[in-house]
Amino acid sequence: MGIKGSSTRPLVLEDVKVPVENLLWEVGKGHLIAFNILNIGRFKLAVGCLGGVKEAIALSAKYANERVQFGKRISAFPLVGKKLAEMNTRAYVLESVIYRTAGLIDAELSGIDHASPDAGVQSAKAIAEYAIECSINKVFGSEALDFVADEGVQIHGGYGYIQEYKIERIYRDSRINRIFEGTNEINRLLIPGTLVKRALKGQLPLLQKAQALQAELLQLVPGRTFEGTLEEETHLTAMAKKIFLMAGAAAVQRYGPKLEEEQEALAALADIMIQLYAMESALLRAKKQLASQGEERAALAVAMTRSYVHDAFGQIEALAKETLSAADSGDSLRTQLAALKKAGATQSGGYGRAQAADRGGRRPGGRLRLLVHRQTPD
Ligand SMILES: Cc1cc2nc3c(=O)[nH]c(=O)nc-3n(C[C@H](O)[C@H](O)[C@H](O)COP(=O)(O)OP(=O)(O)OC[C@H]3O[C@@H](n4cnc5c(N)ncnc54)[C@H](O)[C@@H]3O)c2cc1C
Repeated sequence: MGIKGSSTRPLVLEDVKVPVENLLWEVGKGHLIAFNILNIGRFKLAVGCLGGVKEAIALSAKYANERVQFGKRISAFPLVGKKLAEMNTRAYVLESVIYRTAGLIDAELSGIDHASPDAGVQSAKAIAEYAIECSINKVFGSEALDFVADEGVQIHGGYGYIQEYKIERIYRDSRINRIFEGTNEINRLLIPGTLVKRALKGQLPLLQKAQALQAELLQLVPGRTFEGTLEEETHLTAMAKKIFLMAGAAAVQRYGPKLEEEQEALAALADIMIQLYAMESALLRAKKQLASQGEERAALAVAMTRSYVHDAFGQIEALAKETLSAADSGDSLRTQLAALKKAGATQSGGYGRAQAADRGGRRPGGRLRLLVHRQTPD
C-alpha cells in the first residue's frame, strides 16, 4: 500500500546454522534483547511520524493559501482554518511528548559507563525503564500522523486523492505505523500492564489511595475560576491524574487478576494514560516557553496547550465514566460518578471564566484560529 521506498519481502530461514560467536547474548536470552530493541523502535517510530506530520502540514498550508474557491483562498474559510489549527496542535503536542521522552531516556542512559563489561545489560535496563513511554509515543505518534494526513487530504479536496499530489503518498505511507512495531492494540494492552501487575502484587496502594481520592473529589467546590496563564490547565492535569487512579482502582477491584484478560478496560486505561502523558508534556513545555519567552512569543504554544488540554480532559472523563460503569454498580457507582463530575466541574468549558470574559468569551478553537491566521502570510 505504501512505504514503497522500503523493500518488504518474506525471508525464510530453514535449517540455518548460526556460528556460536554470532549468538545474541546468552542461549535462550536473545529475545530479551530483541524485545528491548522494540522499545527504541517504538520511540523512533513516533519521531518519524512527527516528520510526516510536519511535511503534511506544510503541504496543506501552502495548498490552502493558493487554492481559490468562492472568490477566496480556502485558508480564509473557518472550517479549513480549524483543520490547520488542530493539525498544528497535534504536531506541538507530539513534539512535546517526544522531547520529554528523549530527555528521560537520555538522563537514564547518561550514568552508564560504556567501558564496563556489563554496559549492554545496563543500557537494556535503562531503556526498559521507559518501555511504557515508548509504547505511548508509538500509539500517539502513529494516530497523530493518521489524523493529520487525513485532514491534509481533505484540505486538498479532490486533488488529495490524485497521485500527482504528495499528500496522497503521505496518507498511504501513514497507515503502516499503526500496524508495525507492535500493533496499536497490542501496545495499548502493554501500557497499563505494569500498573496493573504492581497493584495486583500489592506493591501499589491503589485501592487505599482511590478511596481517599474519592472523598477529596467529593469535597471540591464547583465553579472555581482561574486567573494565571495555564493555571486552569495545570489544575485539570492534576485532576486527570486523580481520575486515572480512580478508574484504575475500580478496574483492579472489579476484575482482580482477570483484569489482564479484560481488554476493553485495559485499552480505556491506556487511552487515559496516553492523553494524560500528552497533555502534561505539552503543559510542561508551554510553561517553559512562557517563562523563557514571555506571554507574547509563547502565545501560540499556550493557545495550543489550552485547546489540547481541554479536549483531552473531556476524553479522559468519558473514558473514566466508561471504565467505572463497567466495573461498578448501584450506590457505589453513583458515588464514583459524582466524584468524577466534581473533578470536572471546575472546568470552564474552554478558558477559565475570567479569561474567557477578557477575550469576549471566545472558545479556545476560535482563539487558536485567529492566532494561526495572524501568523500566516496575508
Ligand atoms: C511493511 C511492513 C514492514 C514490516 N517490517 C517488519 C520488520 O522490519 N521486522 C519485523 O519483525 N516485522 C515487520 N513487519 C511485521 C509487523 O510487525 C506485523 O505485521 C505486525 O506486528 C502485526 O502482526 P501480524 O501481521 O501477524 O498481525 P496479527 O497478529 O495477525 O494481528 C491482526 C489483528 O488482530 C489484532 N490482534 C492480534 N493479537 C491480538 C490480541 N492478543 N489481542 C487483541 N488484538 C489482537 C491485531 O492488533 C490486528 O489488528 C512488517 C510488516 C509490514 C506490513
